[in-house]
Amino acid sequence: MTLSGVPLATSDLQISYGTGRNSTLICAPVMGESVDQMLRQLQQAKELGADLVEIRVDYIKNFSPRQDLETLIKRSPLPTLVTYRPKWEGGQYEGDEKKRQEALILAMELGADYIDVELKVANDFYSSIQGKKPEKVKIIVSSHNYESTPSAEEIGNLVATIQATGADIVKIATTALDITDNASIFQVLVRSQVPMVGLVMGEKGLISRVLSAKYGSFITFGTLEAGVVSAPGQPTVTDLLELYNFRQIGADTKVHGVIGNPIGHSKSPHLYNAAFKANNFNGIYLPLLVDSVANFINTYNSPDWVGYSYTIPHKEAGFKCCDEIDPNALAIGAISCMIRNPADGKLKGYNVDYLGAIAAIEEGLRGLGLSGSSNGSGSPLAGRLFVVMGAGGAGKALAYGGKQKGARVVVANRSFDKAKILADKVGGEAITLAELANFKPEAGMVLANTTSVGMKPRTDQTPIPKEALKNYCLVFDAIYTPKWTRLLTEAQESGAAVVFGTEMFLNQAFVQVEKFSGIPADKQLIRDTLARYT
Ligand code: NAP
Repeated sequence: MTLSGVPLATSDLQISYGTGRNSTLICAPVMGESVDQMLRQLQQAKELGADLVEIRVDYIKNFSPRQDLETLIKRSPLPTLVTYRPKWEGGQYEGDEKKRQEALILAMELGADYIDVELKVANDFYSSIQGKKPEKVKIIVSSHNYESTPSAEEIGNLVATIQATGADIVKIATTALDITDNASIFQVLVRSQVPMVGLVMGEKGLISRVLSAKYGSFITFGTLEAGVVSAPGQPTVTDLLELYNFRQIGADTKVHGVIGNPIGHSKSPHLYNAAFKANNFNGIYLPLLVDSVANFINTYNSPDWVGYSYTIPHKEAGFKCCDEIDPNALAIGAISCMIRNPADGKLKGYNVDYLGAIAAIEEGLRGLGLSGSSNGSGSPLAGRLFVVMGAGGAGKALAYGGKQKGARVVVANRSFDKAKILADKVGGEAITLAELANFKPEAGMVLANTTSVGMKPRTDQTPIPKEALKNYCLVFDAIYTPKWTRLLTEAQESGAAVVFGTEMFLNQAFVQVEKFSGIPADKQLIRDTLARYT
């Protein structure tokens, strides 16, 4: 199943709130154990900018329906959705079903704006109220699947079943086993003729929570605090509003992101979304937790899924999924960026890794007073011995960039066969990472780390013993979390100049923001944003 041919979101079906480009409501679940705690959370939800609160009364200890509901509904600074979730649907309530439904009826009478009734009991509930409910109350009939995401056709049938109960709003939450599962919900959402909440739970479902605004979900849920969730995978209200610029997402918003696994740590969404916002560019940039690049690309093939950055471990898989490849990326054998051509929908791969890293290393060498233009290229890398640790995506890019600048390249990698293939490609020498400890053919060499050794959380590791660092005049580390790796700290202590991975990261961001948006990047803004998050 794919997203191609999907029409634009039917946001006109929805009630309009706020001043954004979409009518999706941000609902903050409140899950206090006491009414006082709930009241504080209701206030916090308002201050954070939520539109609606979901009062999860199943979390209240010693819940006293009449008194507690009256207090919470009357004193809520935001419209209320009252949910009394039973254990059998993933909630906390384990008591008598009749009493539970009576509390929901009471919530309607006391002025709740929405109540949530689970599909399994919806017919019973509607019979018990005999069609009588205050006019302003909307009943959300919900279905939660904590195991998987059915096909779009099955979800479509579920929508019809829920609609047949008399629901004002249909809610379907499924679980993502793969990022492509979100497409099933998107397909149903855009075609739904009734107001619908469609969300996919879990880390791989995050995009459904953000793109709910693009595909027309009636509600998305945002938490008050990171990690304090009522369902797996919920972002915070603050992330929705500030990081993802939620109010400005519309049916025509272009989707971009960074494809990797894991990806939760990536700072890229902060940088790119800030740059898009500053440029008034109608685009969003998401962390894309992808297992199979081919499945992802085949599924999200509609014209407005337009641009991706690639990171570990998917650069080579991305290369295989391109329709066309830029000559530099072709020579490197890996891509770091992919863009859909709006004219024919074809995907073109680029490698911008080497531009960013090499420029930063050259600047570092010039800072040491080394202009070295022995072969006339003007690069201080020309003629210099350039040792690249690692032979993965970044290693290939650095070795290629070094060769382009006229350096004598040595590739040192844990797996020698990969080092050999890469060294042969760039006309260099191959050694193992272990051999590097005693590798000192000359002084004044340049060292670049492109292995992931030393990256967060294993910050105590380093790919080369400290004693070996005294032969290098400059050491670059592609790792940027942390900024000061053990390698760079020991390099500085050994007297070498150091160049941070953040410089490579920033240089790439400048190029990619421009490629994605067509507008020159605000470099200072991107630099300041990265400084805020590292
Ligand atoms: P990759 O394609 O997966 O390559 C990983 C490399 O690290 C391979 O050479 C691998 O050696 C080596 N390696 C992994 N674990 C190792 C270990 N325990 N001991 C020794 N070597 C090990 O990854 P990549 O895309 O090139 O990224 C590599 C690093 O560069 C990451 O830390 C990434 O964050 C960083 N990076 C930074 C930027 C930036 O903008 N600053 C851009 C791109 C990448 P084998 O071949 O033996 O497996």
